Amino acid sequence: MERGFHEIVLTSEAAIASDTLGSSLVGFISALPESVLGDTLAKMIFKVGSYPDGTVKRAPYGLSKVEAKLKSLGFDAAIVSPYELKKSLGPGTKLVGIYTMDGMGYSYGSGITYWMLKLAGIKYSGLPFIAKSFRNVLETLNVSPYRNNFKVIVGGPASWQVYDSGLRKELGVDYVFEGEFEKDGPAFIRGILQGQKMPEMFYARPAGIEDIIPIETPSNGGLVEVTRGCGRGCAFCTPNLSGMIRSIPFEIIQKEIEVNILMGKLKDINLHSEEYFRYGANGIDPNPEKVLKLTEIAYKTVKKYGKENTISTDFTTAAVVVQNPNLVKKVAEYINEGGRKTFIEMGIETGSPKLIERYMKGKALPYRPVQYPDVVVQAIGTLNDNNWFVVGTMILNFPDETDEDIMANLELLDRLKDLKVVTFPLPLVPVAAFRKKGFTALDEMLEDPLRREFILKALVKAFDSLKETTKMVVDNVSNPLVRMLMYRFGLFSLEIIKKKYEGQLSMVERQYNDVIPNEMA
Ligand code: SF4
Repeated sequence: MERGFHEIVLTSEAAIASDTLGSSLVGFISALPESVLGDTLAKMIFKVGSYPDGTVKRAPYGLSKVEAKLKSLGFDAAIVSPYELKKSLGPGTKLVGIYTMDGMGYSYGSGITYWMLKLAGIKYSGLPFIAKSFRNVLETLNVSPYRNNFKVIVGGPASWQVYDSGLRKELGVDYVFEGEFEKDGPAFIRGILQGQKMPEMFYARPAGIEDIIPIETPSNGGLVEVTRGCGRGCAFCTPNLSGMIRSIPFEIIQKEIEVNILMGKLKDINLHSEEYFRYGANGIDPNPEKVLKLTEIAYKTVKKYGKENTISTDFTTAAVVVQNPNLVKKVAEYINEGGRKTFIEMGIETGSPKLIERYMKGKALPYRPVQYPDVVVQAIGTLNDNNWFVVGTMILNFPDETDEDIMANLELLDRLKDLKVVTFPLPLVPVAAFRKKGFTALDEMLEDPLRREFILKALVKAFDSLKETTKMVVDNVSNPLVRMLMYRFGLFSLEIIKKKYEGQLSMVERQYNDVIPNEMA
């Protein structure tokens, strides 16, 4: 085996490094804990394609961006597989950068997985696989004979978790980098390489469009960023920290599509954005001309390399859909051509206008918070009519949340019952609570009958919808036998687990019926 020595070695937790058998949606499995996802199964699912020197064939998008920027400035950097990390380290390695999406397991995804298993009566113990795979990377680094030669820096959307956990030093992490890389990252890295004293926790400024360059290593899931930031200003959101929406120029997008198709051998290009229908916008209002031009360019570019190639996108708000349903229809003619069905995520967050007003007023704009529940229902209907299946998240445990807010969530859920939407209830857990109580912080929410009822109802609806979409979830799995097995197993387990939730729900309803007559007596 060749040994790859680079001054800067970039890697990530295996859960994120992997393209999960060709389907990024299968990647949600990474939130399962050790008691459910054993080592053998995890290794089969979270494979990482690499070359003999340990460098990867495809990488998480954010890491490809970091690599491209560093290389463009003359740094010696390479992305290596977490499984090949040992042989990629050498006496010349000066810095190892780890990209993390949920290194400590504090994310919403880990939280909802805890609820799902607990409510289905499945034992939850150990770390979520994603967090375990982050620890594995650190262990490999910490026992390396070259450990004293290099510094370890953690970046990516969940880098804050490492700092806030208070475990940074214990884990062997020298620096935590938060924010976008392109503007301040290179100088930060240069400072470390030159032996300067740099801050242990560094907050980078958002990049300007002129700082952003195309990726060289293809990205997992065929991701190509088309906008950055969002500008709606929700209080609890990371993309919000990036400030106003910035639209990536067509030339960069086109180049990245080609890298993914030609080098990455990917067939579906995911035009990633927090709000696809606001590409090219200067404020809240969409710019339909720009969105359509982008869609056409992307569509023509993928088709140039194969009739079967497709484009997708991943996120929208409800408001922008209601603002311009005609734009949604026109874009669907490209993305969902010929009746193809795809997923799109929408942060519904809450059915309570009061919470919208307090924490995410911008999410409803140009509509008023009081209109928000209607906007959500209308938007999901429009997306469904245009062959999008919506994955809608709803957050619990906002500060000062009252029973009235949960009642508003239940009402909204009821209005969504005939729509094609996977409703995921997500827990907002302050890190301090996680540090003190771990996942038991989530038990407190389950102990409250009203919240328990909402979580169960949302999960029943989610599992019902997922049964309809299992085929879409496994569609991109490259091996046909594995695809078929995952499809059958997926359907079977969804049905069994859904029945358990329904059983729990009738228990909650029985408790209500018992309590109400007693109280009235
Ligand atoms: S609309 Fe979505 S991406 Fe934008 S700030 Fe709010 S939660 Fe974040």
